[in-house]
Amino acid sequence: MNEALSFVQPTANSAWGTYLSQVDRVVPYLGPLARWVETLKRPKRALIVDVPIEMDNGSIAHFEGYRVQHNLSRGPGKGGIRFHPDVTLEEVMALSAWMTIKTAAVNLPFGGAKGGIRVDPKQLSMKELERVTRRFTSEIGLIIGPHTDIPAPDVNTNGQIMAWMMDTYSMNVGGTATGVVTGKPLHLGGSLGRVKATGRGVFVTGREGARRIGLDLRGARVAVQGFGNVGSVAAELLAEAGAKIGASQDHTGTVRNDKGLDLEKLVPLSRSEGVVGFKDCEVIDNEAFWDVPCDILIPAALEGQVTAERAARTTARLVLEGANGPTVPSADDILAERGVLVVPDVICNAGGVTVSYFEWVQDFSSFFWDEDEINVRLDRIMMNALNNIWDTADKHKITLRTATYAVACERILTARQERGLYP
Ligand code: GLU
Repeated sequence: MNEALSFVQPTANSAWGTYLSQVDRVVPYLGPLARWVETLKRPKRALIVDVPIEMDNGSIAHFEGYRVQHNLSRGPGKGGIRFHPDVTLEEVMALSAWMTIKTAAVNLPFGGAKGGIRVDPKQLSMKELERVTRRFTSEIGLIIGPHTDIPAPDVNTNGQIMAWMMDTYSMNVGGTATGVVTGKPLHLGGSLGRVKATGRGVFVTGREGARRIGLDLRGARVAVQGFGNVGSVAAELLAEAGAKIGASQDHTGTVRNDKGLDLEKLVPLSRSEGVVGFKDCEVIDNEAFWDVPCDILIPAALEGQVTAERAARTTARLVLEGANGPTVPSADDILAERGVLVVPDVICNAGGVTVSYFEWVQDFSSFFWDEDEINVRLDRIMMNALNNIWDTADKHKITLRTATYAVACERILTARQERGLYP
């Protein structure tokens, strides 16, 4: 067989390649379950769809969409939908695989999936965005469903897009199916606390990471890359705990203020025009972001941002991976050698999917919890998962990332083995 033609072969410096090497690192800790590890190196199923829509000017545009179900051994597929012009099948494969690890790390009864459309939503009108969303949902309707695969928001998607997805799926099946997506608006079976859940989880795991390395959050200097739903919320919670947000970067550029950025003004502004519209700061070069003196670095944007070269430069003692796959394996090694603690994506940003799970449970029971209950349960689930991972890391003297993979892969591959191969 010509291996180069196989879709599971990674291209150079790809997110999928990063994921595969993360899996390779855990094999020595899997014992007899290592026999099943190949199952993690291939998505179970990948669907590529054409999404044609009529644009407002009457022309016809085609977009490419994907839904990948990486692993369903432990339950229905779960994972977000990303709208971005650079999305590829291979990237979605990596993102779906990280969902498999993440849901298992937190012990949610889900597998891993992810979807995406190669589109820049900023170039579309609201009507065009709705048409793209609805046609895509209809196309992937073949494989999604409340008990098979449940999408959610991810980069550039939100509650409104989830509402259109839920409505389209519901129209196609002939009844309202709120449990088919999570991250919905509150009126449509959404959950309190879901919007802030990912950022809150970053804060909860970060607080514990800081405690374990003896870093006082009061006065700690923080640099945040990506100032959307994840980065800005984590920044706000850290600031509430006394940290100073010294730098923030988004798609418009990078801002710095060594006395601490005023988040009450910066966060709303970042939503409307982006962080560089902010006055009370210095606008610096994007690459200089990595040199801003900080104790905590939060990459909360896209994959592959923490390169070996940037890992060697950062002054951070603690890296909180709000994004999925922000650190490449060579950078991971440098951070470990330098004694920098990395709380890996697959546990650090698992707060979003955890509250998605709460939302899904609430939809099925038609009984909704108050926000305190959600936040208390989120905190407890994340702390239990993190402490268990930490014990595994201490036992084998491995990084938190490899320990998270060890805990998660054991759960996934045990399920795989107990279910057995069909036929
Ligand atoms: N997109 C989020 C993530 O990467 C949430 C997925 C979900 O809630 O299903 O974890």
